[in-house]
Amino acid sequence: MRAAVLREYGEPLAIESIAPPDVENHGAVVAVEACGICRSDWHAWQGHGEWADDKVPRGQILGHEPVGRIVETGDHVTPFEGGERVAVPFNLGCGDCGACVTGHGNVCPDDRALGFEPAAPGAFAERVHVPHAAYNLTALGESVAPVDAAALGCRYVTAFNALVRRADVAAGEWVAVFGCGGVGLSAVQIANALGARVVAVDVDNATLDLASEIGATETVNGAETNDVPGAIAALTDGGAHVTMDALGRQETCRDAVESLRRRGRHVQVGLTTDAERGEIALPTDAIARGEIDFLGVRGLSPTGYDEVLRLVESDVLDPGRLVTREVGLDDVSDRLAAMDEYETRGIEVVTEL
Ligand SMILES: [Zn+2]
Ligand SMILES: [Zn+2]
Repeated sequence: MRAAVLREYGEPLAIESIAPPDVENHGAVVAVEACGICRSDWHAWQGHGEWADDKVPRGQILGHEPVGRIVETGDHVTPFEGGERVAVPFNLGCGDCGACVTGHGNVCPDDRALGFEPAAPGAFAERVHVPHAAYNLTALGESVAPVDAAALGCRYVTAFNALVRRADVAAGEWVAVFGCGGVGLSAVQIANALGARVVAVDVDNATLDLASEIGATETVNGAETNDVPGAIAALTDGGAHVTMDALGRQETCRDAVESLRRRGRHVQVGLTTDAERGEIALPTDAIARGEIDFLGVRGLSPTGYDEVLRLVESDVLDPGRLVTREVGLDDVSDRLAAMDEYETRGIEVVTEL
């Protein structure tokens, strides 16, 4: 089968012909129909993550946002028998531990990160293996197109987890989203659907226009505004109730925290670059005095996919609206390179494998 393999950091991925995956007893092999291209792929391709023991090794097949059809199941996999269309999370739980059985498989201590470690070769390939398939896979109705379903992961479901489960956003609250790439735009759309009022923050006016189209009430261009927290305080009558840093950069994270009103909640979604190396200085005295919550977010538990899919199937949420480009496997390297200077917009999806 064809697969896109990371052979050297920062160099084009190698398109290779390799053996298709063998199925484990508890696993399933999925024929990939579509797979999103994500800034997490870019981090892996750049060789980031050493500071968090999270550097992806050479030889890895990247790709962690697939949707496809089951073509083979292990002996111990129910309820799937083959042929079902499924959504595949990147954070694959073991299905057995305390985290998994209480609905937090996204932080399973025995997890496998699809497309980021040798035990879980990724989905920039014709076929992908999913371990513990009964726990990790969610059946997808035929009404959702593959490209729309691929747009769900990981960014859309991460934004859902951040706003719904972690920050518990309520209707009428102000939500400020810093960085309107795939996860940021997803957050704008989801916050809008929740009845929140949204401030979108980005440095690109075309991106901010797109954010307005999908539900942002206000926009702030961070490159043209000296005091972003001040601007947000003015727009929101005293500060946002919830902020999200979708980028993981020093200035966006700190600006986001400083844009909160008292008792506000910040959700940290973006991972840092080699400028921050996993650490960002924050105003902890103000966090203490304001009773600010600082919440980490990692994907969404596989057990949470059902809820998101129901909202997509009933047209409350529309991840497909954020897809700006469909490409082939040979184009992935170019699209990753375009992320160097933040030249991509919305969600881009591989639909030709
Ligand atoms: Zn587990
Ligand atoms: Zn992703």
